[in-house]
Amino acid sequence: MNLLVCRYAIRPGMPSPILDLEVANAVADGNVYRLFPDNSDVLDKNNGMMMGSLVEVDELEITVIVDNEVDVMSAISSGTVEDTRRFPDIATGESKVMQVGELSLNVMPMESICCGAHGLSVLVTANRGGIKRSLLFDTGPEEAVWAENAKRLGIDFGSIDLIQLSHWHRDHSGGMLKAVQMISKAKESASESLSPVIVDLHPDRPEYRGFMIKGQPISFPADPSFAEVRAAGGAVMKSAAAHTVLDDMFLISGFIESSNDYENGLRGGIRISSIEKGWEKDEEMADERFLMCNVKGKGIVMFTGCSHRGVVNASRNAVDSLGGSVPLYAVLGGYHLVGNTQLQVEETIKDLKALDPKILLPGHCSGWRAKYEIEKQMPGRLVPCTVGSKIRI
Ligand SMILES: [Zn+2]
Ligand SMILES: [Zn+2]
Repeated sequence: MNLLVCRYAIRPGMPSPILDLEVANAVADGNVYRLFPDNSDVLDKNNGMMMGSLVEVDELEITVIVDNEVDVMSAISSGTVEDTRRFPDIATGESKVMQVGELSLNVMPMESICCGAHGLSVLVTANRGGIKRSLLFDTGPEEAVWAENAKRLGIDFGSIDLIQLSHWHRDHSGGMLKAVQMISKAKESASESLSPVIVDLHPDRPEYRGFMIKGQPISFPADPSFAEVRAAGGAVMKSAAAHTVLDDMFLISGFIESSNDYENGLRGGIRISSIEKGWEKDEEMADERFLMCNVKGKGIVMFTGCSHRGVVNASRNAVDSLGGSVPLYAVLGGYHLVGNTQLQVEETIKDLKALDPKILLPGHCSGWRAKYEIEKQMPGRLVPCTVGSKIRI
């Protein structure tokens, strides 16, 4: 597979609001195509004519701001990742001294531990030669959870350059407006002039999205609109094609191609594209996109929101995007193996095993069956993605 990639840079000091950047219909044209209006605030580095390619980074720091699962106590398998926010770290690093008579007590505030919620939000900071760029992958289901956990984790909001939404589903977009507001506020109050946070969204936003349950359509709350993101202070960038961002340290995928017969989208998925038409079948989930980095000496670290298009498909697409020359090192996020049969779990883990990732970090909608199967088939490689983790790869 030959992925088209594009890149952009932020023009320093330009104010919000921002023009939308349509990358949706980018078509190969002798490997050169124009993507951005000349007067937009978010420009590619070469006046719109470019092909970017993912560069190697030295290291990733991954902070899980929202996930379904809270588990600060399970020991991490040795030789996988370094997590600097396990229970002993919190207990020794965040305890406060309380005097009770003659006694001096070290008391660990329970508020140091993050709250679980059904969704995903992961802050990924890449370091290349001392230059750091930060991308927020999804924003969880609720504003209050995102804001509270981010505060508990001491997130440096002003350092967040870009937010990527993995797909239009409220358990990934629900905290977005609050996140944009908090990031924008931090950037405005910073002493140096900081560019507005870019919000990288798939252009095909449904009015509503839902699912059929017991024969009836049930809707998620609507995702934030492009206008709401702009009003919150974000610079909207619409992109359906694969492209690199933030000094080419990250690659956001395009459409995730299918390569097997058991990963078939979201069964029962429905959408309302226009109110007049009402509910329509939407099992393909064509707007889903993964995120990936290439870590020096290790390989591809791939982030997946919900894997409606399949975690094996996404993993293979990630490897193919670099021509198959870079190994898959880690896969973090929702594997979506909660409602499927045991056969599907086994097929998935067997095919993931063939890709030989060194670490699997299933979270959000992965389900316990998938984690159990990974531990059984690839002992020592499982690091469940749990809320509040601060992982270094
Ligand atoms: Zn989803
Ligand atoms: Zn989800």
